[in-house]
Amino acid sequence: MNFSSDTSAPAHPAVLEALAGVNNGMQPSYGADEVTTRLRDELTRVLETDDFDFWLCASGTAANALALSCFCPPMGAILCHEEAHIARDERSAPEFFTGGGKLQLLPGEGAQIDETALREAIAGIKPDFVHETPAHVLSLTNLTESGTAYPAAQVKHFSALAKDAGLTVHLDGARFANALVSTGASPAEISWKAGIDVLTLGLTKTGAMGCEIIILFGSARQKFNELKARAKRAGHMPPKMRYLAAQAIAMFADDRWLSLATTANQRAREVSNLLCRDGETELVHPVHGNEIFVRLSDINLRALTEAGATFYPWIGGSHRLVTSWCTPQETIDRLSELLA
Ligand SMILES: *Cc1c(COP(=O)(O)O)cnc(C)c1O
Repeated sequence: MNFSSDTSAPAHPAVLEALAGVNNGMQPSYGADEVTTRLRDELTRVLETDDFDFWLCASGTAANALALSCFCPPMGAILCHEEAHIARDERSAPEFFTGGGKLQLLPGEGAQIDETALREAIAGIKPDFVHETPAHVLSLTNLTESGTAYPAAQVKHFSALAKDAGLTVHLDGARFANALVSTGASPAEISWKAGIDVLTLGLTKTGAMGCEIIILFGSARQKFNELKARAKRAGHMPPKMRYLAAQAIAMFADDRWLSLATTANQRAREVSNLLCRDGETELVHPVHGNEIFVRLSDINLRALTEAGATFYPWIGGSHRLVTSWCTPQETIDRLSELLA
């Protein structure tokens, strides 16, 4: 019963097969290979547009920091939620990659930015006032750090507020597939059609071995050469890019990424229902995706601990449990018996 993280899960076998499948012959390096070209076609299908450029990275932190550094100057700020991964879990990589850019933290329930706080932050931007640090970017996360999902309409609404003030809108999609399954939105509806300029689309937590895609949409494509130069300077230009591209192709084939996320989300619902059956365990946030934040009853906490289940303590005495594409049915059955 391992609920530690979706990054603890193995890669899906189809990903490893895809790696073996591209492991023959010479190919041009640094993304000029035919596998990366094929990925472009797959992305065109998945995103329902060809007005984009993309780059591949092996970690989400690199993807976020590189993406943000193209849009936030050293003397600018990035608006984000106070619990955002870029603020809490990236060892100041966004600040480092932007060369000093500042994160301006906003409050809100369930790690979703509060609209009033966002409006105030945007209204407070004074580009010519020398003493303050004007925001250049709004960064949203979907699924959020509390496992909740912004519906497409909300993303669109927040993007519109930001864009009216000339901001670029970034979406941290480390669990993008879980958000798609949860909201029922298409990748297009909840990204470029909702005003997202730059998307970091994570596939690692969904079931890849290590593959994150930075996608620049529309006018953000002007930054593509700069993105590549920054990736190179930061040491994030994988020479054998075909092996990253192959992972993504395997995930998009037959909409595998969505079926894997469907399983992960379903398992999370089952686990949370089982935990809450005792009437004393309480969810801290609604379970929209594959993460469960709960205040466990003493008896459930003891039962889980004694059975050797793995999960993390979270803020304020709560706990976080995460399911993944490979959380087996047997785990649910065992949990059901244990808690009964
Ligand atoms: C996991 C995660 C990332 C990426 O983390 P890495 O460990 O660097 O791959 C980024 N954003 C969010 C919201 C995440 O949960």
